[in-house]
Amino acid sequence: MSRVRAALALAGVHAGYGRTEVLRGVSLTVPPGKIVGLLGANGVGKTTLLRVAAALVRPAAGEVSLGTADVTRLGAHQRARSGVCLIPEGRGIFRSLSVRDNLRMFLRSGAEADLGTAVDAFPVLGRRMHQRAGTLSGGEQQMLAVAKAFLCRPAVVLADELSLGLAPKVIEEIYAALRLLNDQGVGLLVVEQYVQRIVELADSLAVLSKGQVAWSGPAGELDEQALLDSYLGTRADSAG
Ligand code: ATP
Repeated sequence: MSRVRAALALAGVHAGYGRTEVLRGVSLTVPPGKIVGLLGANGVGKTTLLRVAAALVRPAAGEVSLGTADVTRLGAHQRARSGVCLIPEGRGIFRSLSVRDNLRMFLRSGAEADLGTAVDAFPVLGRRMHQRAGTLSGGEQQMLAVAKAFLCRPAVVLADELSLGLAPKVIEEIYAALRLLNDQGVGLLVVEQYVQRIVELADSLAVLSKGQVAWSGPAGELDEQALLDSYLGTRADSAG
């Protein structure tokens, strides 16, 4: 089975919860096989943006496309089938199931060999196949969550604060797995609080401020003022 290569694009997206509008005209593209880092203050809407991309939050306006297909109206299951894989903050694993059963949940039919790829990325999971996921260490649970991305044949992986609360050695292993996915042609949209870490991983960065992309550009050219403004909430030209 071949992997889809396609850009994920959000165009003019407005979204929120009830009367609270969190995203106010967000446009952002993850080109095929590229890593885009998403930065911004707590509560600015990074998770909401990923949830719109994964069809867990329906935009009030704007479009989401994957390659040439308008996927705005696809539900979460169909969006995932079309090649968008979310690794949510808080992991989203099934704690009462074994590691093997968690992995099998995302395995495409006829793609048993992908299980080996996931275990190659995280050998510790291979040694814990029969253990209940809820009894794994925090780092192992995060590895299991990331392993899903090797199984669902994604065009784009959306990674939400994967390094939160993890030891540096585990973070390195998880970032190595993200690079491995990227080497296979997968595009990534990565939310990360540690600026230096994402600058090193990403091809390009976007800074979210006041519900909009206040700055985007090559990772090596991050506009630190735009980032600071996001944290201070003062960027006048991004105010609605
Ligand atoms: P963090 O870095 O803290 O995870 P974030 O940038 O990912 O923050 P979001 O989680 O997208 O931000 O939240 C954006 C805003 O939407 C916040 O004000 C938050 O309180 C609010 N929000 C998030 N989820 C919900 C929800 N299910 N219902 C109502 N409001 C929500």
